[in-house]
Amino acid sequence: MWYNSHMLANCRVVLVCTHYAGNLGATARVMRNFGLSDLVLVAPYARASDLEARRMATHGLCVLDSARVVPDLSDALADCALAFGTSALTAGVWRSGTVGSAAEKLPDLYRAAESNRVALVFGPEPHGLSNEELGRCHGQVHIPVDPEYGSLNLAQAVAICCYELRRAWSRSQNDARGVPNEPPRAVAPMRDQERMFEDLREALASIGYLFGDRADSLMHALRHLIGRAQPSPQEVKLLHGLARQTLWAAGQMRKPEGTA
Ligand code: SAH
Repeated sequence: MWYNSHMLANCRVVLVCTHYAGNLGATARVMRNFGLSDLVLVAPYARASDLEARRMATHGLCVLDSARVVPDLSDALADCALAFGTSALTAGVWRSGTVGSAAEKLPDLYRAAESNRVALVFGPEPHGLSNEELGRCHGQVHIPVDPEYGSLNLAQAVAICCYELRRAWSRSQNDARGVPNEPPRAVAPMRDQERMFEDLREALASIGYLFGDRADSLMHALRHLIGRAQPSPQEVKLLHGLARQTLWAAGQMRKPEGTA
């Protein structure tokens, strides 16, 4: 029987469109090594049943066999409060503002995992995560490497991130023996955050704040600002109400005089 009583069980590893079966197996193995168990595969090209995946998994077969396959990244993140993408690249508007090293960012992810489900997202071997996929995450993790060749093997990148999460867990165990912990804080699930962001986007477009070429990057910046605050369910409701009222008021202003 394998079972994680600690918060690492709340840390999900999401692999997007993985091409090589060996990477599925090696990921499952290293997750087991570090005490993680929740693996989600988004539209994988490789199959968990492939012999290479099973060979590489060794004692991580239980993780591989319980992996969930979903068609889209938003399905993988729907019940998560916080998600970080990973990338070998750090430049560009989609990355530079929110990127940090694994050692800096993963303790934050672990802290959120103490009372919520969280996710770490890894891209396909040939080209990594798209801007759109990175935009769905609240932050980005980069493992510092030699800039001459910065792209790690997928499962090795998973290993380094799992190691940092385990270190954060282990520190929290030591802290718990001394200083009292802050009470756990509930963060709204991404499914609710997404619905709010959709309406917020529409509302901001309706009042002319979002338009043209800059709309995507402005919305991206807003998503990160709000995402960093790790809003509670009540706070997401508050923002959702604000968006809906803005939409309604914009509709009223557009109505010709004399109509109700
Ligand atoms: N050129 C791609 C590399 C894909 S490697 C890229 O720029 O991301 C497959 C996956 O491994 C990446 O999508 C990412 O999830 C992870 N990865 C590889 N190197 C990494 C690094 N230095 N830091 C963080 N994640 C990395």
